[in-house]
Amino acid sequence: MKAIYSDRYVVDLKAHVFVTGKYRLVKEALTGSGIEIIEPQPPDWEDLKLVHTNDYLDDLKNYRVSERTVSSELPIEPEVIEASRLGAGGTLLTGLIALEERAGFHIGGGLHHAFPDHAEGFCFINDVAYALKKLLASGKIRRGVIIDCDLHQGNGNAFIFKEEPDVFTFSIHEEDIYPVKERSDLDIGLPPFTTDEEYLHLLAQALREILVQSFDLAVYIAGSDPYQGDRLGRFNLTISGLMARDRLVFESLSEKEIPVAIVMGGGYAERIEDTVQIHKNTALLAQEIFG
Ligand SMILES: [Zn+2]
Repeated sequence: MKAIYSDRYVVDLKAHVFVTGKYRLVKEALTGSGIEIIEPQPPDWEDLKLVHTNDYLDDLKNYRVSERTVSSELPIEPEVIEASRLGAGGTLLTGLIALEERAGFHIGGGLHHAFPDHAEGFCFINDVAYALKKLLASGKIRRGVIIDCDLHQGNGNAFIFKEEPDVFTFSIHEEDIYPVKERSDLDIGLPPFTTDEEYLHLLAQALREILVQSFDLAVYIAGSDPYQGDRLGRFNLTISGLMARDRLVFESLSEKEIPVAIVMGGGYAERIEDTVQIHKNTALLAQEIFG
């Protein structure tokens, strides 16, 4: 299997809850696994118009604080914007690799809170929406599905694809926390202290329901923030529960022969080793199942 990564994803945000060093640590943790690391290329700014508005992209290009960018929880600085743009190229490349090799793993991506015309959370450029729009526009796929298992609802993707039958959006998340919810094609909003058992039961049911339809590609947002040791959530999911989650998603897709582009999404554990372990587990399991 191939994994997409760039050192430029690692940006010094000081004592921020979003520790971008996790990307490098995940890459290092995969050393010796046989997973090949590939460097992404940033998309042209023009190409990002598939998802984002001209005014917003102009703000980003010029690192301008505006009503559209002030909603970000990250500073609007060149390294941050460039990392976000490069990540969009990374998710597209992950999708292209998945179409050829059944799966690809992006050590980055999953910035699912970015809207067409404004930033939100830690997300400036929506890499998932960009990759899917690009693959649809180029005829590489006809239908895609987003399986969003990050702790937070994929509100940006839900909004972007709400009128588009070509992309099915599914999000399973903690209900009563950030963000303000948009409506996905299927949402499962769960209460605090949700356990492995409850989560896996509902996820299995949802996957059965969704995968009755046919898709050419799935983007799996494998956030590690549903973990019980995460600082942003209150779920009681364990590391082995999250492995069971990944296995459920991968086996369901494999059974239907749907290729999968895996992106990391969020992860803010008290112990960064836990965040790294969870993402490493996801990558190794994908390698085991998809080769
Ligand atoms: Zn999240």
